[in-house]
Amino acid sequence: MPAKYIFVTGGVVSSLGKGLAAASIGCLLESRGMKVNIMKFDPYLNVDPGTMSPFQHGEVFVTDDGAETDLDLGHYERFTHAKLSRDNNWTTGRLYEQIIAKERRGDYLGKTVQVIPHVTNEIKSAMKKVAQDVDIAIVEIGGTVGDIESLPFMEAIRQMRQELGREHTLFVHVTLVPFIAAAQELKTKPTQHSVKELLSIGIQPDILLCRTDRFLAKDIKSKIALFCNVADEAVITAKDVASVYEVPLVFANEGVDTLVLKYLHMEAKDRDLSKWEDIVHRVYNPKDTVTIGIVGKYVEYEDSYKSLKEALVHGALAHNLKVQINWIEAEGLESANGDKSYEAQLEGYDGILVPGGFGKRGIEGMLLAIRYAREKKVPYFGICLGMQTACIEFARNVVGLEEANSSEFDPATPHRVIYKLRELRGVEELGGTMRLGAWPCKIEPGTLAHTIYGKLEISERHRHRYEFNREYEEPMVAAGLRISGSTPDGTYVEMVELPDHPHFIGCQFHPEFKSKPLEPHPLFSTFVGAAYRHGLKRRAEKETEAVELFHRPEKVARR
Ligand code: GLN
Repeated sequence: MPAKYIFVTGGVVSSLGKGLAAASIGCLLESRGMKVNIMKFDPYLNVDPGTMSPFQHGEVFVTDDGAETDLDLGHYERFTHAKLSRDNNWTTGRLYEQIIAKERRGDYLGKTVQVIPHVTNEIKSAMKKVAQDVDIAIVEIGGTVGDIESLPFMEAIRQMRQELGREHTLFVHVTLVPFIAAAQELKTKPTQHSVKELLSIGIQPDILLCRTDRFLAKDIKSKIALFCNVADEAVITAKDVASVYEVPLVFANEGVDTLVLKYLHMEAKDRDLSKWEDIVHRVYNPKDTVTIGIVGKYVEYEDSYKSLKEALVHGALAHNLKVQINWIEAEGLESANGDKSYEAQLEGYDGILVPGGFGKRGIEGMLLAIRYAREKKVPYFGICLGMQTACIEFARNVVGLEEANSSEFDPATPHRVIYKLRELRGVEELGGTMRLGAWPCKIEPGTLAHTIYGKLEISERHRHRYEFNREYEEPMVAAGLRISGSTPDGTYVEMVELPDHPHFIGCQFHPEFKSKPLEPHPLFSTFVGAAYRHGLKRRAEKETEAVELFHRPEKVARR
């Protein structure tokens, strides 16, 4: 049976959570035994988000095949079992790049190349490609209805319905029903306008997912249904929730899966969401809180570390904990912030994490945070840049190579502990080349990494240019650093750790991309576990101290 398609569009404003909605529909359909794939079209002209600022675009999500994609693909992977690759994310820029290459090759045999049919055909074949071997392909169209940029995509999905018919295609439109305080009323007009816009380009939505802060009463739903030409049952309350992992349950309550299956004329088994119910129960009933300080550069914009944040949530859920994340601007540690020294700023965290990042800004602050974690035995987890900085800190303050650095931050450093392999081998600079996507890693038996993974062969995703310089391996290892993971051929160091520390680990890859609520990544769950134990111990010590202070203040004061 050929796959059926669900097209997800958005209206009124951006940031309505279309990606989450698409992912949650995928999750729900999987709970009914369906096999799904999900893809996203981004209407902008950049070829991929790889070169876009994290401030503008949020995180760049990396797939196994090394595609640099939109962060919504992270939601797709966390909510479903779909196997994503570069085929699952297309931008206008990449489509045009492909079309122009074809034109230059003469593939169009001298025809005039136009948006319709050439661009729309390209879009349709991209959709069909991800729909192979699944029951349902969910296609999210980025942007908001009415944008000039999204028109070719809208036209392509309109054509898909023409081609395949009603029973094989479904239009889901995500819209906003705001509550206007002055009128004390929910307003349906923006939704009406947005649907009108869709109708003007030939698309009649089948289901409306109405984002709102309260439940939509029957009469409001009927009003929307009447004006937008959909069935009453197809107006869905997509109410705000405190945890994104509740969205599939909210949709289930509103019967979205049943409606989708009915419209697509599909039979399916009964819904089983028990695992998601368990996760959501844990989210709302944690036994305690663990506090993690993340020391980084783009910290004021949380979307730039979306997967990281989620992976910490998953790690905490594995222990029935709630994670309190404090984002610490690395630069702020470099000089005393107000009258707060860096030690004072870092005090009180159960664990410290330095995430991935690019560029020189804030590096010295990260080094201070790492030194603090190493010396005070606070659990530390360094990811990519966080592993590189951990190596620099160790080289400077333990090995005694005071000027140790990465050639990314100081090209003239006498001790390039972190460098580009190409630099050393004299191979020509290859521009934007990065080590991207899944790489195998061999783990050393008997290391913390081995205990964490419980196996000796792993595969993780990369996105970086610089590497650990093995010329410094000997002095670093002699001083107590343990290299616990490398590529099977030994070229690249992938993991380091400190055996004389309760939990100090760094990895050159990004494990956060592979963490899911139902399958928390072991590097995150063990880090959160170690942090929690550290926090408990510290609290217990504080209590003993307080008791002592109460009974024998003179003795404590002397200490
Ligand atoms: N800037 C470093 C590099 O390019 C680290 C990159 C990262 O953390 N993703 O190697």
